[in-house]
Amino acid sequence: MNNQIKKIKYIVVTGGVISGIGKGIAAASIGSLLCDTFKVVPVKCDGYLNTDPGTMNPIEHGEVFVLDDGGEVDMDFGHYERFLNISAKANWNLTMGKVFKQILDRERRGDFLGKTVQFVPHVTQEIKDWIQGIANNEQPDVMLIEVGGTVGDLENQFYLEAIRQLGREVGRQNMLHVHLTYVPIPSGVGEQKTKPTQMSVRLLNEKGIEPDIIIGRCSEFLTPTVKAKIASYCNVNPDSVISGIDVDCIYEVPLVFAKEGIAKAISSRLDLKINEPSPEWRSWVKTLKDNRKNIDRSITIALCGKYTALEDSYASIIEALQHCQATIDCNINLRWIETTSIESNKGAPTRLMEGVHGIIVPGGFGTRGTEGKIEIINYARKHKIPFLGICYGMQLAVIEFARNVCGLTDANTNEVAEDGTKLEHPVVAILPSQQGVTDKGGTMRLGGHNVAITPGTKAYDLFDEQSTVRRRFRHRYEINPAYIAKLESAGLLFSGKTPDGSIMQMVELPDHPYFVASQFHPELTSSLHKPSPMFAGLIKAALKFKQA
Ligand code: GLN
Repeated sequence: MNNQIKKIKYIVVTGGVISGIGKGIAAASIGSLLCDTFKVVPVKCDGYLNTDPGTMNPIEHGEVFVLDDGGEVDMDFGHYERFLNISAKANWNLTMGKVFKQILDRERRGDFLGKTVQFVPHVTQEIKDWIQGIANNEQPDVMLIEVGGTVGDLENQFYLEAIRQLGREVGRQNMLHVHLTYVPIPSGVGEQKTKPTQMSVRLLNEKGIEPDIIIGRCSEFLTPTVKAKIASYCNVNPDSVISGIDVDCIYEVPLVFAKEGIAKAISSRLDLKINEPSPEWRSWVKTLKDNRKNIDRSITIALCGKYTALEDSYASIIEALQHCQATIDCNINLRWIETTSIESNKGAPTRLMEGVHGIIVPGGFGTRGTEGKIEIINYARKHKIPFLGICYGMQLAVIEFARNVCGLTDANTNEVAEDGTKLEHPVVAILPSQQGVTDKGGTMRLGGHNVAITPGTKAYDLFDEQSTVRRRFRHRYEINPAYIAKLESAGLLFSGKTPDGSIMQMVELPDHPYFVASQFHPELTSSLHKPSPMFAGLIKAALKFKQA
């Protein structure tokens, strides 16, 4: 192993007791305290056999986050990018699908000739090689490795074994283990219980890993007695037991960790100087929270999609709205509208849009819920309610316009006619580059692409008169070029295109206060550092709409 790799510090975050207690946000928060001084590269190890989450329903696994390089990755990368202000890479997300594929390809190639290929040492070696490959390429100061799932799950045990081995190889002084657990306060008992944490740490110990820092997620700050108990039974320093108190704003987590003394706990094990959260970050969090009481400038935004059963399906959209609330004088209330339920319910938009000041129709796939979305868009257009359409939301806005303004009553997208039914007016059609593509995984038009913005449009204003912006895409269909002239002559304005003019990327209605939609996903690149101008535009228009 070369010397440069030896200098890298590894911070490994594992979770115990139950899933869904914020391991990704805990990892991102730790990273945010380091990233001003150090180059931090986040790595996430997922146990599932899909190559990536791109083929999963968001209701199953949360939003599919898309990186600039086209990687479809775990939604935790959204937190990493937003907290660390970085652009991540696809291969920083390991999955068992990727690891096994690599091993099986190598076995067929003959890389293991004569040997029995086994989980240990071959799978564990593959994982270590992958992690070290990232270290070699990126040369980070700190590698932040999050192991998905919960300790004790069968599917993440090879990651834990690989990390245990890696710890020996890089030197225990260069690896820090953070374990996030859950400290319940059962009703009727009324006190913080440490047993689940003890059990979880015991499971981790069985894997040969001793945590250095334990974060106890709890509805209250951990009491000194509870901290001492966890420290004693789990073999850590009492100062290294951190309260992971429930907060209602995820950007507050770094502030909580800092206050709880995580900097000292990290630097007493690794030779790293940890920063305080920046004054800027503190002020964003303060504004975001103070604005919750901002009754005069309180607005309601309707988020109209078909994956509303799981809020995580729209994680980045929710965050993009939070970024607005941290930087614009407003309080944003979200109203969830499940568009599938509108379809059989005449007059539903009128009722559901009562008291709404802005509408978002987000990305999506397939047939279910699309007619409901079209009805909502129709309502937004006619009643001049500020509207932001994203990806499918833009395609459906164009279909609505084609049907109700251009008179192409059966305009639709070929996506709803995948069985081969011939549409009379396929206003949205498959991208030429997608014709003949049969594999579903990783084959869409993905990742960052340049968008040429037409001067003199609302889009041009929003983007501060930049003639080109770079945004992230994930789609298979596009506005059918055969209909563009007809749509334009009826008043629809395509204000963003590919630089060669071939694919429509943004659309707007000049005679509407705010009707803006894009083929790309503006939410994926929004952060507290750089809130999305399109979301900010929606919110400002919604505030005006409310005043009017
Ligand atoms: N289903 C549409 C397409 O594939 C839109 C995709 C999306 O909203 N992400 O083009």
